[in-house]
Amino acid sequence: VWVRVKGVCKQNGLLILSVLAVVIGCLLGFFLRSKNLSEQEVKYFQFPGELLMRMLKMLILPLVVSSLMSGLAALDAKCSSRLGLITVSYYLWTTFLAVVVGIVMVLIIHPGGMAQKEDSEDSGKPIMSSADALLDLIRKFSFIQDSFYTPKMTVATSLTETTTRHALIYGIQDDNGTDIQNFQLDLTPPPDVVMRTLPGTSEGMNVLGIVIFSATMGENAGHFVNILTDSSLCRYFPFGIVFLVAGKILEMSDPSAMGKKLGFYAITVVMGLILHGLFILPSMYFFITKKSPIVYIRGILQALLISLATSSSSATLPITFKCLLENNHIDRRIIRFVLPVGATINMDGTALYEAVAAIFIAQVNNYELDFGQIITISITATAASIGAAGIPQAGLVTMVIVLTSVGLPTDDITLIIAVDWALDRFRTMVNVMGDALATGIMAHICRKDFIKEGDGVPLICETK
Ligand code: ASP
Repeated sequence: VWVRVKGVCKQNGLLILSVLAVVIGCLLGFFLRSKNLSEQEVKYFQFPGELLMRMLKMLILPLVVSSLMSGLAALDAKCSSRLGLITVSYYLWTTFLAVVVGIVMVLIIHPGGMAQKEDSEDSGKPIMSSADALLDLIRKFSFIQDSFYTPKMTVATSLTETTTRHALIYGIQDDNGTDIQNFQLDLTPPPDVVMRTLPGTSEGMNVLGIVIFSATMGENAGHFVNILTDSSLCRYFPFGIVFLVAGKILEMSDPSAMGKKLGFYAITVVMGLILHGLFILPSMYFFITKKSPIVYIRGILQALLISLATSSSSATLPITFKCLLENNHIDRRIIRFVLPVGATINMDGTALYEAVAAIFIAQVNNYELDFGQIITISITATAASIGAAGIPQAGLVTMVIVLTSVGLPTDDITLIIAVDWALDRFRTMVNVMGDALATGIMAHICRKDFIKEGDGVPLICETK
């Protein structure tokens, strides 16, 4: 037995460590909450977790660009358009299905009937101390750069002028490029922040990051999966996860203040996510491929844990890529195409949550939605999830689109902010699960094309 246990541990070492890291992070977080750390101390404590986020974010842009380019280059035109059409149709269908699940759940449970409005809390901007400056220096000059672009721009461009202010919920940076206190709803941003957030400004481009990253890639250039498998980056994961999870727990508002009413809303979202993520999507995988979804999901557990810890499907993308390739043995040409597209447009969890949140806000305001408005919500929630970036709480921003479409007060987003940090984690897991299962389904549907293609066309960028 001991030999078997040792074998399992050796095979799944990183996964086991990651699960332990989440548990330790939770325990540590709750333990330290009782110690009443100052805001500044919490920030220092969160630093190792922040580094993990930056490491993952660093890989997103090159991974997406290189994998899409090499993925498409490895397919002929007919094959890629067929794959593209099936993939996008499947993504739209599952997203719409998620919205329907959300709408049915929220109409049945009716959490808004029990809710009252609560004021959101405000938090000030952090003050730059010398220790902060030192940490900032590490951020800037280590190769652990922030992402090469600022996703807020994607969101800002998709919003109308009146809603742009809501786009400032997240991603705002101070003059030193440090994120200002995570993703607060800033309804009255100073004019210079508005300027820097407007689409088209060049603030988002981190050229230094690109230069340092490219220079340090060395012989690993193009082989992003290698970086994750062979390097010490991998060994850093569990450590970073502990601090990411504990840091977030330290930051959250008092759960007892959340109230029973918001609790019902959170339960509705989580139940919808469980139904969609654990039953509907795996069933679709089973019916299409006739293979076990449990085995498939086991292969992507590491990615699901990272999505739980980071709340970002984009940051999880490199790990999902690695899991599908190494554990689930999916053809790399399929992964390269289906996964980045999915991470960008396919967010079932976000769509479901947006629909539930919008109807919850209507219920709180005693606003009767007619059938036409519910259809509008289902369409706009699908669109808003497509427009959301794969970063923490992006769905909260694009929800403005859903609320305005049926004339609900956008300021009521503040009602649900208190629980959003937690719901964001679960919906991100469903987003990642949706992309990963879709990749398996596409690999199954296109398997004949690929045997044919594989004969004549060599795979591009083989890692080994
Ligand atoms: N955090 C989610 C993701 O990265 C997006 C969202 O719903 O806020 O997939």
